[in-house]
Amino acid sequence: MRSFVYQSAPARVIFGAGSLDKLPDEIQKLGASKALVLSTPEQRQSGVDVVVRLHARAAGLFDRAVMHVPIETAEAARAEAKRLGADCCVAVGGGSTTGLAKAIALVSSLPILAVPTTYAGSEMTPIWGITEGGRKSTGRDLRVLPKTVLYDPCLTLTMPAMLSATSGMNSIAHCVEALYAQEANPIISLMAEEGIRAFAESLPVVVKEPANLEARSQALYAAWLGGMVLGAVGMALHHKLCHTLGGTYNLPHAETHTVVLPHAVAYNAEAAPEAMSRIARALGAGSAAEGLYHLALRLGAPTSLAALGLKAGDLDQAADLAVQNPYYNPRPVTRDGIRALLQNAWEGRRP
Ligand code: NAD
Repeated sequence: MRSFVYQSAPARVIFGAGSLDKLPDEIQKLGASKALVLSTPEQRQSGVDVVVRLHARAAGLFDRAVMHVPIETAEAARAEAKRLGADCCVAVGGGSTTGLAKAIALVSSLPILAVPTTYAGSEMTPIWGITEGGRKSTGRDLRVLPKTVLYDPCLTLTMPAMLSATSGMNSIAHCVEALYAQEANPIISLMAEEGIRAFAESLPVVVKEPANLEARSQALYAAWLGGMVLGAVGMALHHKLCHTLGGTYNLPHAETHTVVLPHAVAYNAEAAPEAMSRIARALGAGSAAEGLYHLALRLGAPTSLAALGLKAGDLDQAADLAVQNPYYNPRPVTRDGIRALLQNAWEGRRP
């Protein structure tokens, strides 16, 4: 057996339908009494509901969270937290809203209580990201790791079917890359395989019946596992490639993950045979790459970068950018190999 290091991240998790009822108690357990509630403009009503539940423990609502945390938004939210004398942040929403809470915590150390409503998984990671002048910087800092996470599947019932599909595939990507990560370890691999299995079982039901609470619960449980493994071990080719494509060509985050994943997995297949057989087993498929491609098809999710708006003329530059900064990947990352991968993903070829 390979030697390994396992470090668990300190976070309290409350899971279950109706767990949002425990929010006021959980704020108290954090020793806080003036929460700044965060949401996107689209989820303002969820933010208002939380403010109402918190009564006197709510300091106010900041409802301007947007994708990729622009520095201007981060600074406006930080100023609002200061102005209101907030002593904690409650993030109600997906990765964009959790990301805004992290931007506040990064400079103030305010504790975060996260109430995730997508499968992105940011709530379980110490990873922050802020976009300035069109470039997204990211880093790891334990101050931004939420202290408490309330997973209430009832809040995911309104997640549109397509966002559910692509957000789920995004989380599956965390599990996939955790299985062949440089720091892979037996505990994280158990979680990763179980995350893929639980998603493969629940996502087709979620997409067909978005209000099915049992399937929603299973998918949110899988998302928790996806977030745990993302926070615990480093990601490889797939995540780096999606980061480049998203940042440079402004492609949508979860959709890009959905399209690229089967091709990144096909690229790494021969270099990571044990991970591949675990992925295939979790999907109930003959091969990992094919199983992921079929799952995306079955969910009605996009399968080509062309469909996401990437131009054929951008593929050369994207391949150049993707090999600029070296990083760990089970198979060496070569310019020609990445160019071919991108061509396949652009055309939406069966891997
Ligand atoms: P998102 O948070 O941008 O949400 C997308 C849209 O869906 C928003 O309008 C949101 O209000 C809406 N929405 C969310 N949940 C809903 C629900 N239950 N019902 C109805 N509408 C809902 O999308 P996301 O995919 O969750 O997050 C993407 C962002 O998170 C990216 O910026 C990504 O880089 C970041 N991210 C960060 C980490 C990390 O560890 N730091 C991990 C994963 C993702």
